[in-house]
Amino acid sequence: MTIDNGDAGQRLCRAIRQELESLGRSGVTHWNTEITQLLPLLASPAVAPVEPTRIQAATSENPPRTGPNNTGPKNTGHPSGAQEFEMAKRATKTAAIQMAAPGTVGAATPPKLLDLPLADRVKQLEKLQKCVAGCVKCPELARTRTQTVFGVGNPQAKIMFLGEAPGADEDATGVPFVGKAGQLLDGIIAACKLQREEIYICNILRCRPPGNRLPSPEEAGNCREWLDGQIAIVNPDYIICWGSTAAKNLLGTTEAIGKLRGQLFEYGRAKVCCTYHPSYLLRNPPAKKDVWQDMKWFFGTMGVELK
Ligand code: SF4
Repeated sequence: MTIDNGDAGQRLCRAIRQELESLGRSGVTHWNTEITQLLPLLASPAVAPVEPTRIQAATSENPPRTGPNNTGPKNTGHPSGAQEFEMAKRATKTAAIQMAAPGTVGAATPPKLLDLPLADRVKQLEKLQKCVAGCVKCPELARTRTQTVFGVGNPQAKIMFLGEAPGADEDATGVPFVGKAGQLLDGIIAACKLQREEIYICNILRCRPPGNRLPSPEEAGNCREWLDGQIAIVNPDYIICWGSTAAKNLLGTTEAIGKLRGQLFEYGRAKVCCTYHPSYLLRNPPAKKDVWQDMKWFFGTMGVELK
């Protein structure tokens, strides 16, 4: 396992920055705007200051559809996924989503988006990936990872999938969502009449937390720079947050995932929907129908009917 040190990572980012500046100075004019927008992403390895982000429910005039099989699990004393879905719809008609307190990690301002041709997106993602490969902002994760897990998929994807963090299989392969949860996600992708290659997949963290523990707020904040870089370059129309870690960190909310389902939020120009993580579905198979309900509703907002 080779781990670059912090100075080397910073030198690499400085080199990329200098290369981009040089391109701009040499008169590659159609790059100039893009360079200007990209440079802040590479300017500093420090965590960007976080601010509360206003998110907005957008479903009162576009209510989620309820699937025919959406009866939910038997009453266990806790609301079922379907009940939570309905409760969330009702709650957001009258109340704003609880916002993260100032300074809460994850409540960052959306990045400036880039509108690059495909070849430039590929180049910029490759450069960002090199920076990530040398990142040691989270000392424990950098020490214990096999490799960083940057992200995969279509650099021009309309839909970005956002998960939590790499697990053991992802740490071993360098590819997000390849373990059992990834196989379940593949099934969901196929059921949605999509292929993996059509979407872009990444996580809140790019390094595996030891023992698959939850990312700490500090780690999520450290990795936000890379996530925002990927969002800026891919510039998706939609982001699906798989699980509460993704939803809470992207949107800067403290709401439970069950209350975030069935609503569209905004992150920059992207519309964001939230549902359960495939790992949760492995532990709780009855919730699969809730995710299918979410997918049918989400694609319905795009005018695509799933059966
Ligand atoms: S999790 Fe992200 S910020 Fe932390 S060391 Fe890995 S790449 Fe760097």
